[in-house]
Amino acid sequence: MLQEQEAHAAQMEQTFIAIKPDGVQRGLISEIVSRFERKGFKLVAIKVVVPSKEFAEKHYHDLKERPFFNGLCDFLSSGPVIAMVWEGEGVIKYGRKLIGATDPQKSEPGTIRGDLAVVVGRNIIHGSDGPETAKDEINLWFKPEDLVSYSSNAEKWIYGE
Ligand code: UDP
Ligand code: MG
Repeated sequence: MLQEQEAHAAQMEQTFIAIKPDGVQRGLISEIVSRFERKGFKLVAIKVVVPSKEFAEKHYHDLKERPFFNGLCDFLSSGPVIAMVWEGEGVIKYGRKLIGATDPQKSEPGTIRGDLAVVVGRNIIHGSDGPETAKDEINLWFKPEDLVSYSSNAEKWIYGE
């Protein structure tokens, strides 16, 4: 029992997910949150924030050579964003699956972008693309004390005893 719990804890991951200004303005907050929640992932931090352009540039620093970088950073800082940390086994990789391909024209139906977005410049959601970026993005958007550690009653039904 204890061993199983330890194994389970060892596989726990956290990822950074943000609903971009288009998702917020289109009234898709609860729709998006509910997809992660119903899957069985756990919300451990959430806030509404309007990032500055400088902050958006930090968040997207990997893309600074790309032609769309400036427009992307203008857009991210154009209105409220819902910044979140979600926790669960495999949440980094599976979160990206829930989100779908970057270009909504290529996202599968059933994914967030596939069901709810049409063009790449307005694809409503961001998700960390790997363990290192997840760590960096969580640290950029949140202070360690903003992350709440708690056990949910549903966990034993999601993961087994
Ligand atoms: N983006 C864009 N045009 C492109 C590629 C990307 O406007 O040709 C935007 C899009 O909003 C995307 C963001 O830049 O979500 C970050 O790009 P990335 O390749 O990291 O895609 P993601 O990780 O969001 O799927
Ligand atoms: Mg990315």
